[in-house]
Amino acid sequence: MTYTIKGATGEWEVVCGLEVHAQVTSEAKLFSGAATVYGGAPNSQVSPIDAGMPGMLPVVNRECVAQAVRTGLGLEAEINKVSVFERKNYFYPDLPQGYQISQYQHPIVGKGEIHLDLEGGDTKTVGITRLHLEQDAGKSMHDAQDGASLIDLNRSGVALMEIVSEPDIRSPDEAVLYMRKLRTILRYLGTCDGNMEEGSLRCDANVSVRQVGEDGFRTRCEIKNVNSMRFVARAIEYEAKRQIELYEQGGDVEQETRLFDSNKGETRSMRSKEEAHDYRYFPDPDLLPVELTDDEIEGWRAGLPELPDAKKQRFIDDFGLGAYDAGVLVAERATADYFEAVAAKAEPKAAANWCINELGGLLNKAGKGIEQSPIAPDQLAALLALLKDGTLSGKLAKDVFALMFETGDDPQKIVKDRALEQVTDMSSIEPIIDQLIKDNPGQVETYKKNPKVIGWFTGQVMKATGGKANPQAVQQVLKPKLDAA
Ligand code: ADP
Ligand code: MG
Repeated sequence: MTYTIKGATGEWEVVCGLEVHAQVTSEAKLFSGAATVYGGAPNSQVSPIDAGMPGMLPVVNRECVAQAVRTGLGLEAEINKVSVFERKNYFYPDLPQGYQISQYQHPIVGKGEIHLDLEGGDTKTVGITRLHLEQDAGKSMHDAQDGASLIDLNRSGVALMEIVSEPDIRSPDEAVLYMRKLRTILRYLGTCDGNMEEGSLRCDANVSVRQVGEDGFRTRCEIKNVNSMRFVARAIEYEAKRQIELYEQGGDVEQETRLFDSNKGETRSMRSKEEAHDYRYFPDPDLLPVELTDDEIEGWRAGLPELPDAKKQRFIDDFGLGAYDAGVLVAERATADYFEAVAAKAEPKAAANWCINELGGLLNKAGKGIEQSPIAPDQLAALLALLKDGTLSGKLAKDVFALMFETGDDPQKIVKDRALEQVTDMSSIEPIIDQLIKDNPGQVETYKKNPKVIGWFTGQVMKATGGKANPQAVQQVLKPKLDAA
C-alpha cells in the first residue's frame, strides 16, 4: 500500500532519507582514553584531547573502528579497507577544537541495506549510502546558572557512527520502521545501545515531496536532531504537508535546515542554504588513514551474532511461527532468547503466544523489560506443561500465570498451595450435575427443544466448581444425564 497525501491539486508522495547518529558502544572515546559512561558529573570524563588543548595528538581507538566495521557487516555493507579522518571546520561553542574530526571522502563503510518488515508480511529494502565515524561535541547548558552558559565536555570526543540512508523511504511509518530496524540491528550487534532518551540514537530527516507519477526528486529540507520515534513520524508528516501547501500556493521549497518543535508539532527554519557552512574538509594531518586487513574483517564477520532477519526466518522455518509473531519476538534479542528457552521445553506456538501476549502484557503493565521478568523461561514452560496435560484449564493457567508474575513462584507450587488443579475426577462433579438437573426442570425442557442450552448447564457447573472443572469432561457426563431426564 503506498502512502500519499491528498492536496488541492492532486495526490502527493513523500520522499525521505535519514541520517542517523548512533553513539558507538565503547569504554573509551574515539581519540582518547577518557570514559564514555552516561550521566557522569560534568567535565569528569575529559582528557586534554577532548578539551581541544593545543598540541595534543589524537590516537584512533581500534575498538571504535571494530564497532563501525561490525555495524557495516550487519548492514550487509561494503567495508572500505582504507578510510580517512578529515577535519570538518566550523565554530561551535560545544566544540573546543574548532573542528570536528569526521570522515568525508573516504568513509569506513560504503553501500549496504536494511530490510523493513511491512504490514501483511511484505518486506521493503532501504539502501544505506554510507557509514562514517566522527566525534561527538560537548553540551552547553544555558539555564543552569543565571547570566552564564555552562559547558560539559563529557560527550566531547565520544565516537559516533553517522549512518546515511538513500532517499528510499516513502512514508512517516516507513521512517519509523527504518529507525526501529536499525536500532534492533545495532542492539543485536552490541555496537550502540539505541537509547534515544540518553541521545545514543538521534536522527536528521531529509524530506521532499513530489506528485504521484512524477520522476526525479524535488528540493529537500533537513529536519535536525529528532530524538524519538514518535517525533520522527510527526516531523516528516508535518514537513511534507507544509511543502505541499507551499507548492500548491505557487511557491517553491528552499533547501534549508529546519528544527522540529515537539511542543507545537511543527518544523521551523533554522538556516537556509545560503547560510550553509563551508566546512573546508581536509585530511587530518595528525591521523594516518585507517587500514584494515582481510583477516581482521573476516574475524569480525565470523564473530557476528545471528541477526534479526536470519533469526526471524529461522523462527518461521523451525518453529512454524507466523511472520508477525516471529517479527515481534526478534525485535529484542533478549525476548528472542527467552522465547527459544521456553520453546525448547514446550510447544513453540503456545510458547510464542504466551511470550507475546501474556508475558508481554504483564511486563508492559509493570513497565519492565524481559530481563526483569519475574517468571523464568523454565517456569513458563512448566506452566504450559500443566495446561497441556489438563491439570489447568486455559482460564486457570492465566490466573496461575498472574500469580507467578506476582510471586516468582513455580506454577506447581501455586497450583498445590491454592488447590487450583482442574477437576477431572467426575465422581465429585456428578452430584453437582444431578442437583442442577433436579433444581431446573424448566431449563431441562428448554434443552430438549434446543440442545445448545447444554452450555448454560456447563456454565453452572463451572461456576459451582470455581472454574476448576474441565468443560469437555463436564459435557460428557452432562449430556447423557440431560437426555435421560
Ligand atoms: P548532503 O551531502 O548535502 O548531506 P546527501 O546527498 O548526503 O546530502 O543526502 C543527505 C540525506 O538526504 C540522505 O539521507 C539522502 O537520502 C537524503 N536526500 C537526498 N536527496 C533527497 C530528496 N530530494 N528528498 C529527500 N531526501 C533526500
Ligand atoms: Mg550528508
